[in-house]
Amino acid sequence: MTHFDLIFLQFPEEIQGEVFGATQYKGDHYTVTIDSSQSEEIQRQTLKHELSHIKLGHFESDLDIRAVEAEADLYADQMSEEELSYLMTFCDRRKELSGHYDSELRFIPA
Ligand SMILES: [Zn+2]
Repeated sequence: MTHFDLIFLQFPEEIQGEVFGATQYKGDHYTVTIDSSQSEEIQRQTLKHELSHIKLGHFESDLDIRAVEAEADLYADQMSEEELSYLMTFCDRRKELSGHYDSELRFIPA
């Protein structure tokens, strides 16, 4: 498991309900971003899904996008609370950003 940063912020309205989270991989470090405008339950499922991508090494492979999404969903569904707690020990920084993205995906601080 690789270390990661975790960011909660409001996604742009146009993609709310379609995209719940995202993970970026840059310079050997992951940044997981979760849409804070969603319910706690959805945020938790999304967190599990994004951590599954990291755990399963999806960013280091050239697998088909549909195949990795299905694999991450399956892994996330079966993830126990113990495993989630364990994976969270690899979280270096956790930030709640207040603000939102505008339609051009620029972050507007509140
Ligand atoms: Zn995914």
